[in-house]
Amino acid sequence: MFYDHNVAHTVLERYKNDLNLDIVVLPELVYCDECKTLVSTKTCPHGQHHHIKYHAQTLKTLLLAGILPPAILMRRDISAMILSELFPNRFENIQKLCDDLFPSNGLLEKQTEREFYENLMKLYQTTSLT
Ligand SMILES: [Zn+2]
Repeated sequence: MFYDHNVAHTVLERYKNDLNLDIVVLPELVYCDECKTLVSTKTCPHGQHHHIKYHAQTLKTLLLAGILPPAILMRRDISAMILSELFPNRFENIQKLCDDLFPSNGLLEKQTEREFYENLMKLYQTTSLT
């Protein structure tokens, strides 16, 4: 993206006419710890010091270290899929972990590592005691 005469342009404009597209450039989205949600930097009244920006490289660093990125920055099903592929068979007994950590419907259910990460993120997002 670049500006020319105070008008925002993107490289996508090259394809605009060829593909008959309408291109709308949105302002940057960030997580605001005052608004408690994703906001546009144009509409949020709070300063930059309240904003968490999306840094792809930082999320990649967390994932490569085996850590679930915050759900405000990456959907839990996506981070669960990536971690389960990056670290297959990471746990000696994933079934015990799941049985000990997560509620069950009483039936013995075999959990995949992907489901483990998704359920773990649900626990991280539980806020009644925080
Ligand atoms: Zn805000």
